[in-house]
Formats: sequence, structure tokens, C-alpha cells
Amino acid sequence: MTTINIVGGGLAGSEACYQLLKRGYNVRLYEMRGVKNTPCHETDGLAELVCSNSLKSMDKSTASGALKMELELLDCMVLRCCYEAKVPAGGALAVNRMQMSNAVLRELNKFENFELIRSEFINIDTQIPTIIASGPLTSDDLAVSINKLIGDDNNLHFYDAVAPIITGDSLDMDKVFEAVRYDKGEPGDYLNCGMNRDQYKAFYDVLISSKRANLHEFEKGEIFESCMPIEVMAERGAETIRYGMMKPVGITNPKTGEKYHAIVQLRKENVEGSAYNLVGFQTNLTFSEQRRVFAFIPGLENAEFIRYGVIHRNTFLNSPKVLTETYALKTNPNIYFAGQITGVEGYVESIMSGLISAINLHNSLINISEFLPPVTTICGALQRHISRDNVNFQPMNANFGILPDLEVRIRDKKLRKTEYSLRAEADMIEYIKQNLV
Ligand SMILES: Cc1cc2nc3c(=O)[nH]c(=O)nc-3n(C[C@H](O)[C@H](O)[C@H](O)COP(=O)(O)OP(=O)(O)OC[C@H]3O[C@@H](n4cnc5c(N)ncnc54)[C@H](O)[C@@H]3O)c2cc1C
Repeated sequence: MTTINIVGGGLAGSEACYQLLKRGYNVRLYEMRGVKNTPCHETDGLAELVCSNSLKSMDKSTASGALKMELELLDCMVLRCCYEAKVPAGGALAVNRMQMSNAVLRELNKFENFELIRSEFINIDTQIPTIIASGPLTSDDLAVSINKLIGDDNNLHFYDAVAPIITGDSLDMDKVFEAVRYDKGEPGDYLNCGMNRDQYKAFYDVLISSKRANLHEFEKGEIFESCMPIEVMAERGAETIRYGMMKPVGITNPKTGEKYHAIVQLRKENVEGSAYNLVGFQTNLTFSEQRRVFAFIPGLENAEFIRYGVIHRNTFLNSPKVLTETYALKTNPNIYFAGQITGVEGYVESIMSGLISAINLHNSLINISEFLPPVTTICGALQRHISRDNVNFQPMNANFGILPDLEVRIRDKKLRKTEYSLRAEADMIEYIKQNLV
């Protein structure tokens, strides 16, 4: 039987390992912890949760709950171990992390064809089918090898400095307006939130006194040189951001003819306009502070966040350039990637990509078609997100904003989300019946 290398015994690598072991392959799982640590992991256990012990909601009418439902249908081993190690946390799936990690090792050890190799994997042998799941804290030497393999320094990013993304239908459309600076471009490309002097002052005051998220020691110096958060720029003076990302010049409200003291621009995240990002608003505020502070922006009082702004160390590929929808390298179909390094974001999303990438490697080895669940499922939509052309590619977590609209528009938010989830479930069940080998 073919031997497969998996690099990284984290969430994605462990799941990928299981999927391939159960399909009969000999799997060598390379995990460097035990020999060399990352700056954040604390144990040498497989599938260690590096930070929170919560894997978010189990409620199927949330995107994270819907993703879990899809993974259950796909026989996800790591998720099963999470349920086994569950601790009470209301509607969230929180786990005893040691128990969960031990359960993952126990499940993999059940297979005779499993080999765990404790060493830093550096040289990628393109003759051996391989899944690289080395995570956001990929070791430096491996990052050099990946860079050589993908052939362009700009296709591997080391930091994530992202602005928040909010849903289009949570905006107050009576306040925001379409316009592009100096009328250059299509007016619909940007929405704008205008502020008068008083509104700007209120926003500025709350911004500079806001609470920031902690950075790890290793992240502090380098990150701030390359991507300045809005709150740090604001500390340089009340006018700095008004001459930067909030500059009002060249923009007039077409509805009222008004000009503004400051402007926040929102750029479409997708053609449908179901999601927008706050242009230039990279931020290290805590998530609750982002909700509180950005509600001071006219039009964003009830903004629903699909993704909060973050600034942290995160090794990830420019996947739309280098990966296919199956997580395989475009230039070398023997090499797959999985986990956070592919630009999915979050624990459950990483587990999911390990699972899907392993099924695709299997399908390619037995020469059958790719495993690409419908775009109406969270798995399928994230596969498209990481591979669809996107000049401003940023990691993405599970959310309903990346799914196509429902055929019938449902105004009630809770009902709408339930409907997204039911559609995803039905479509995944049908797809599995026809396509899972
Ligand atoms: C500091 C931090 C906190 C985070 N907190 C959260 C959170 O609270 N909630 C959330 O949903 N997501 C969080 N994430 C994002 C993401 O969900 C996790 O990083 C998740 O663990 C990613 O899974 P993965 O399998 O891609 O990587 P990992 O789980 O990190 O697994 C990668 C594995 O590869 C190993 N490795 C690296 N290089 C090599 C090499 N050269 N040879 C062999 N092994 C190697 C590592 O030791 C590691 O075990 C966080 C990320 C970071 C960096």
C-alpha cells in the first residue's frame, strides 16, 4: 500500500491521518513537538488546542454548528474525540484539552499502518504523496522549503493583519451610501459611512481608550512594523487617521450632497455584497471592544461581525494562487496542504480542511473525481474561498455570508440561519451518497 507523509500532528494533520489510515494507507505523521516546540504549544500531544478550549457553538443554526453537523456526516474523528472530552459550556463545545488530545492519539494508535515520527520535517520529497498541515506556527526551516516549492516569496504570508468583516444586511442603508473617491471606479464598489466633527470626536475618544488583545512576546516587535493597527495610529494624534484610512477627501454623499469630516469606507468581500470589510481598519482590539467601538460609526450601530479584525502571527499561503479547490498544490498534485496554513481560520475549520484534503488525496491516488461538496455547504464554500481568485486573500472562518443566497429571502435572521443550515445538511447528505468513497 502507498505510504503518505503528513506534516504536523495538529488538528488538521491528525484528522487527515485518520481519514487516510482508515482507507488503508501507510501514514507517517511527522510532529516536531517533543523535539522542538512552537512558541505557543505547551505539550507534545496531538491536536493540542493552542488557546481557548472552546470549539464554538453546537447550535446547528450557527455557521460553526452547521460545520460540525457536516463533519459528523463525514465521520470526523477529531470532532468525535472533542465530544468525548466535552465539558459543560452552555451551547458551546468546550473540551478538556488533555483528554481530547489523548483520545486522538488513542484513535490513531488503533491502526497498525500508523507511524508517529517525532522530528522536524524540513525537506519536502515531491515523489511521496504528502499533506502539509504545519499550522500557523510552521517552523522556519519548513517555511523556507515551502517557499522554494511554491516558487514565490509573496505567496507565503507570516502575519495576519485583518480588518473586521461585517454582513451587508446588518448595515443601516439609510446612513451608508455608495461612492468612490473622486468618482474613480464603479460607485457600487464601496459603501461609505460619513462622520461630522462631533461624530468623529466621539469615535476617536472611544477608540483611543479601547481595550486591546494581548499579543505573545514573539509577536510584538515584528508585527507592528509591518501592519499598524488603527488604534495605534490613532494614538499618534487626533488627525492621523483622518489623514489616513478615514480621509474624507473626494467623497460626497450622492443622496444629500453632503461632505464629511471623516469617512469610513466599506469594501465588498464578495460580488453579492453580502459581506464588507472596513478598509484600513486592521485592529488588535478585543472582539467585544470591536463591537462596542465600531458601533460609533454611523451605519454600523448594529453591525454583525462575520470575522473580527486580528493581528497575529499566522503562516498562511496565498491559496488562490497556489492551491486548487482540493487543497492540492497547483504545480505539484502530489502535495496537499491542510489546516490554518491554507487560509481557513479556526479550530473546526482546520479539522475540516484536514478531512477534505485527505479525501481528495485518496481520490486522486485511486483516480476518481475530486471531492468538492456543494457551495451551499460550509465545507464546499470554504474550499471555494481558498481557491477562488482574490487579490486581497485573507483567512476565513465558517460563516453563512460565504454561502449563496437562499432561493427565497427570509427576513427573520434566526429563521434565515436555520434555513441555511438545513439546506447545507440536505445537500451534504445527498453529495455524500453520490461521492464519498
Ligand atoms: C496563538 C494562536 C491562538 C489561536 N487561538 C484560537 C482559538 O482560540 N480558537 C480558534 O478557533 N482558533 C485559534 N487559532 C487558529 C487555529 O484554529 C489554530 O492555530 C489551529 O490549531 C490550527 O490548526 P492546524 O492543524 O492548522 O495547526 P496546528 O494545530 O498548530 O498544528 C500544526 C502542527 O504542526 C507542527 N509543526 C510545525 N512545523 C513543523 C515541522 N517543520 N515539522 C513537524 N511538525 C511541525 C506543530 O508543532 C503543530 O503541532 C489560534 C492560532 C494561534 C497561532
